[in-house]
Amino acid sequence: MNEQQRIENQQVNAANSSDKKSAKDYSKYFERVITAPSLKDAKKRGKEEVNYQNDFKIPEEFQGMGNGRKFYIRTYGCQMNEHDTEVMAGIFMALGYEPTETVEDANVILLNTCAIRENAENKVFGEIGHLKSLKMEKPDLLLGVCGCMSQEESVVNKILRTYQYVDMIFGTHNIHRLPNILHEAYLSKEMVVEVWSKEGDVIENLPKVRRGNIKAWVNIMYGCDKFCTYCIVPFTRGKERSRRPEEIIQEVRQLAAHGYQEITLLGQNVNAYGKDFTDIQYGLGDLMDELRKIDIPRIRFTTSHPRDFDDHLIEVLAKGGNLMNHIHLPVQSGSTDVLKIMARKYSREQYLELVRKIKAAIPDVALTTDIIVGYPNETEEQFEETLSLYREVGYESAYTFIYSPREGTPAAQMKDNVPMEVKKERLQRLNNLVNELSAEAMKKYQGQVVEVLVEGESKNNPDVLAGYTSKNKLVNFTGPKTAIGKIVKVKITEAKTWSLNGEMVEELKPLEVK
Ligand code: SAM
Ligand code: SF4
Repeated sequence: MNEQQRIENQQVNAANSSDKKSAKDYSKYFERVITAPSLKDAKKRGKEEVNYQNDFKIPEEFQGMGNGRKFYIRTYGCQMNEHDTEVMAGIFMALGYEPTETVEDANVILLNTCAIRENAENKVFGEIGHLKSLKMEKPDLLLGVCGCMSQEESVVNKILRTYQYVDMIFGTHNIHRLPNILHEAYLSKEMVVEVWSKEGDVIENLPKVRRGNIKAWVNIMYGCDKFCTYCIVPFTRGKERSRRPEEIIQEVRQLAAHGYQEITLLGQNVNAYGKDFTDIQYGLGDLMDELRKIDIPRIRFTTSHPRDFDDHLIEVLAKGGNLMNHIHLPVQSGSTDVLKIMARKYSREQYLELVRKIKAAIPDVALTTDIIVGYPNETEEQFEETLSLYREVGYESAYTFIYSPREGTPAAQMKDNVPMEVKKERLQRLNNLVNELSAEAMKKYQGQVVEVLVEGESKNNPDVLAGYTSKNKLVNFTGPKTAIGKIVKVKITEAKTWSLNGEMVEELKPLEVK
């Protein structure tokens, strides 16, 4: 929806305000303003100019809107969503709201949703259903659905038809409009829908309330233009647009000054960072080379796309220091033919060549990946190519998924002749291999001393501390509570498939930045 359509939408809302969330079917009017994902249309968008806004402020008329009120946000999906939740929490707090840990205590509930697979969406619909009784008990409660699902026309139509007690639906491009959306929801008798597909904006200076003070996420870019044939993200997150390097460097410096120990740079395809700049030649390698000079002990990034992973980045990562020796490099399939149908734009051989270069430059690197099994028409031989590639690369871990068709994506139109039992059986075989190689990687740590960033008490035992190594391995160990928030040396006494046990040997000296 563009700005003009949004205004028209508000006018339609105003005109209909007497029939408060009645059993009326809104879908006809809604289809007028929101178009279903269209690959052809979406691919034209690269030509739109990126608009940078540095002047985010809470409008004066909304100051104090949240006084005496509490908010609750439930987050589904990836780190990007987690970080969006931190921004929305920042906006709520700036409006005077207080956070709460329970839905019963909240005056506003937001579900920040994920659209990546069907089961992620089903969970959200289940939750909206559960919240109905609370909404009936507390009519003044505002219930909102935001995040990636809100960017899908079919989802918005379903909510408009089936869950008419929802008060607000807004998309991933509309987060900065939260004060206006809340204001409208308090006044309006209609569901407030703001799914605005103006995709070219980068909004700076948004307030944030980060979860914890040890690790922080920093967005370096938004959106994705890769259009892998199975993926909904380019439609829900909009076009690729990079934050300016000076904004990122300043944010990381501030985090370092506040004592954060680790930052993770975020983007759907971080290796495309800077490709949209028209005035400077500046990529992820250049950014990492500047960030590594900042006095912060650990820097990571996610997610990489193999196609855009260039030699300069490898050269910079090889400098080590605070740049961590773990790279998450989603491959999706080990078969060149399947990769072609997925539109991943690399072959098995090109991927293996990239891995060879990374290992040559960073011999101690840990590689992890994402894999989809049961792609439409995937043959047994093609699946076995995935298994053989997994062994050949020697991944230390992987996120594995059964292919899930997403409406509007090219793959959803493909005929799929792989029965669900076969897909499940392939996932099981792949997971057996993932477990085997993870256990092997862990075994190598037995008796070693590793550096662990201590995040807090272990979930299962408050007498045990937990943290992560530079390669992102979970370590549970005995040590003093004063170690929390620090990087300490831990001797590994037991290696399990997915975690390590150990005992602290000493605290590390502060990092020396080269
Ligand atoms: N941008 C990243 C990339 O290119 O690897 C990852 C984005 S996505 C949030 C994370 C993972 O979800 C993907 O790497 C892919 O393995 C998986 N995924 C995406 N769409 C999927 C679908 N339709 N069915 C199953 N898995 C999917
Ligand atoms: Fe989706 Fe990642 Fe492909 Fe972009 S690069 S379309 S986010 S899988």
